[in-house]
Amino acid sequence: MDIAELSNKILSRDRRALARAITLVESQRADHRAQAEELLGTLARQRRQALRIGLSGTPGVGKSTFIESFGLMLTEQGLRVAVLAVDPSSARSGGSILGDKTRMERLSRDPDAFIRPSPSQTHLGGVARRTRDVVALCEAADFDVVLIETVGVGQSETVVAEISDLFLLLLAPAGGDELQGVKRGIMEIADVILVNKADGDLKPAAGRTCADYSGALRLLRKRPQDPPGYPKAMMVSALEEEGLSQAWTELQQLNIWRREHGHWNQRRAEQARYWFAQEVRQTLLAQLDSPQARARMADLGDSVAQGDQSINQAARQMLTTLDPT
Ligand code: GDP
Repeated sequence: MDIAELSNKILSRDRRALARAITLVESQRADHRAQAEELLGTLARQRRQALRIGLSGTPGVGKSTFIESFGLMLTEQGLRVAVLAVDPSSARSGGSILGDKTRMERLSRDPDAFIRPSPSQTHLGGVARRTRDVVALCEAADFDVVLIETVGVGQSETVVAEISDLFLLLLAPAGGDELQGVKRGIMEIADVILVNKADGDLKPAAGRTCADYSGALRLLRKRPQDPPGYPKAMMVSALEEEGLSQAWTELQQLNIWRREHGHWNQRRAEQARYWFAQEVRQTLLAQLDSPQARARMADLGDSVAQGDQSINQAARQMLTTLDPT
C-alpha cells in the first residue's frame, strides 16, 4: 500500500481512502501496524483538529436518535461530522449494542457525515487505541466535529472522556430516585447533561429530572476548566428536534471559553501524556503474553518455587528478556 498516496487522499477528504485507512489501523497484523503507524505519523504533521464530543447513555435513552438529529443539524450548518462508537460489549457478547447498521439511517446517507461502528476487539485497551487512531484519521480528513458514543459498560466512559474535548451524558426522564442510579464518576466527567425525551407526556417528568440534576451538579466541586454555570443540565427532544441548537450553543460557548483560557490545550496535552503511558503499559503487557514469554515465566516461576532463585532476581531476569521490538 502506498502510504503517501493514501495520506494525500485522506487530507483531500476522500471517504474511501478514510475507510481503507480505518481498516488498516484496526488490523492486528504486524505489517499493517507498521503501515498504520507510518500513516498516522504523516497525518499528525498536518495538526488538523476537530471538536471531539464524547456521548454516553444507557441503551434506550435515545443516543442514536440524538446523534442523528444533532448530526443532521450540524451538517445543515455546513459542518462535517464523524460518528464513532466505543462498545466493549461487542467483544463479549459477539453482538454490538451500538454497531447496528440500521441506526442513524438518514445521517449515514448524508455526504457530510461519516459513521463507523465499533470494531469487535477483545480488550477495551484495543478498542481505545483503535478509537484514538480513528479520531486522528477523521481529524486529518477535515471533519469539524467527531462524536464518540459509548454505552458506559465497564471503563468505556473513562476511555471516551480521555479522548474527548467535551463530554455529554444523555438521560431519560425518570422518577425522583433515579439520581442515585447515575454513577458519581460520570457526573464528574459530564460537561453537559441532556435529559432527552422532553416531549409529550414525558415533558413534566423531564423537567423534574432536569431540575434534580441541575441541583446535583451545583453540589459538585467546582472545576477550574469550567466557566460559571457549568456543568449544566438541559432538556432536549431528539425525536422532535427540540433544544438541540441550544445544546450546541452551550457546547460551543464552553469550548470557546476553554480555548481562550488555555484549558483546551492543557487537556489535549494531558490526554497525550495519558495515552502515551497507556500505550507503553499495554505494549509491555502484550509482550508478556507471547508464547516465548509465557514459557520463560513458567520456567522462572519453577526456579523461584524451588528456591533456586530469589523472586526479585527472577523478575529482573524476566524483564530483561522481553522482546524489545
Ligand atoms: P439508544 O439505545 O440510546 O441509541 O436509543 P435510541 O435512539 O435507539 O432510542 C430508543 C427509543 O427511544 C426509540 O424508540 C426512540 O424512538 C425513542 N426516543 C429517542 N429519542 C426520543 C425523544 O426525544 N422523545 C421520545 N418520546 N422518544 C425518543
